[in-house]
Order: sequence, then C-alpha cells, then structure tokens
Amino acid sequence: MVIREHNTPPVLLNKRKTHSSVILCERSQILENKLPHNSTPGTNLTNLRFLIQITTEYDKISFMNRLITVQSKRDVPSKYRNTPIELLFEYHNFGRLKDVYSLPQLLIGMCMDNRKHLRLPDNFAFILRTGGANLIHNDFAVSYAISVGAIKHIVLIGHDQCGMVDLISRKEQFIQGLTENAGWDRQTAEEHFDHSAPIFEIGNEIDFVLRESKRLSLKYQKIIVVPLVYRIENNLLHMIKSD
Ligand SMILES: [Zn+2]
Repeated sequence: MVIREHNTPPVLLNKRKTHSSVILCERSQILENKLPHNSTPGTNLTNLRFLIQITTEYDKISFMNRLITVQSKRDVPSKYRNTPIELLFEYHNFGRLKDVYSLPQLLIGMCMDNRKHLRLPDNFAFILRTGGANLIHNDFAVSYAISVGAIKHIVLIGHDQCGMVDLISRKEQFIQGLTENAGWDRQTAEEHFDHSAPIFEIGNEIDFVLRESKRLSLKYQKIIVVPLVYRIENNLLHMIKSD
C-alpha cells in the first residue's frame, strides 16, 4: 500500500501489521479526516499550523499506542498480583481506600514535574523525584531503600509532555531564567546548561524509562523493577506494551 502524505514523499507500508504500520495507518486516517479542502500544502501559515497540529496528534497516538490502560484488577499482569505493584494501581488508579502501613513496600522513582501526584497511603513508599525519573545520580538512595528499607520492588514512572525531552529547545529560557531569577551571570548559566543538559536529556519518555528500568534491574538483580507511564491528561498510571 502506498500512502501519499500532506506535502511529503510516498510512504510505503508493509502488509504485515507491525507496530509502526499501525501508527502510520492511523496517521493517514487523521490526514484524511482533517485535510482542509482546496488547501495548497506548505504555502501559508494556516497549513503550517495544520501540519503542527497533525504532528502533535500523531505523536500523541504514537505515545498512546505503546501504553496499556489499567482500569481494573484484570488489567494488572498476573505476575504482579499480590505485590506492591498491584497495590500501587489499586490506590492510585482504582481509588482503593488507604490502608495503614508502618514499613515501606516499594521505591517509586518519578519525575519532579508539578503536574503529577500519586494517591498513596502514608508510609507506603519511598519516593525519589528527579528530572524525567532519571535515577542515574541517585543510586545511593536506591541502595538505601533496598538495604535499610528492605523493599523488593521498584517502580519507575515516566510521563507524557516531560520537560526533560528536547532540553535544547529551552536553552535560552534556562539561561535567561537563571540570570534573572537567581542572579547568575550569563556565561556561567550557559556553561551550566551545556554541561548538564546532555546528562539530563531523556529523549523519548517511554524509551528512557524502559532503559533506566533495565539499568536498575541489572544493578539490583534480585529486585523487581517495573517501568510505568503517568498520563497528564487523565492522571492515571499505565503499563508499557512490550515489543
Ligand atoms: Zn517530567
């Protein structure tokens, strides 16, 4: 099948229904449904806005296609039954009434983003909040939760619209903000950004949380590490489809 997209070369699709072909088919459906009549591709601001809108919707669909909505206990994979992972879904997604805990049951790593909050009982979990749920500089705290806190499960929670994606696009805002709000001189602020942004850039939210979970699994081999995604739109936790 050949799909000719808005102002782009033809896209060849495999007849096999692969993950990417599903996404491309959905993208073409959006284009068919929303393409303005009598439009001349790429020639004016309206079309530019249209293309940005389409790209945004496409990215959203691509993101969503990689997630599993967890709406009831049946959606929790059987390997997580009767574990703190299932409890996390019950408290946050299903609204289970909060139980009383005296000891932590798991470690949660999640982004510092202010739009996210978890509905959890007191004392239920250690929570490490960092940019993009990146725990690369928090291994001592992770080790502490495992050794002293005796937790056996780690959940890493990425989220959509994460500020740690495409940091370079906010470089100027970062430099200006530090100079105006914190009194830094411009050169120091720029050097700070140039040094740190490559360390904290996560690329794609889902891919990053998968990679970071794998890193922790290899480092702490007796610990169960589960990558999840929090969607800002519905404030719910989602599983990630395995490829
Ligand atoms: Zn974030």
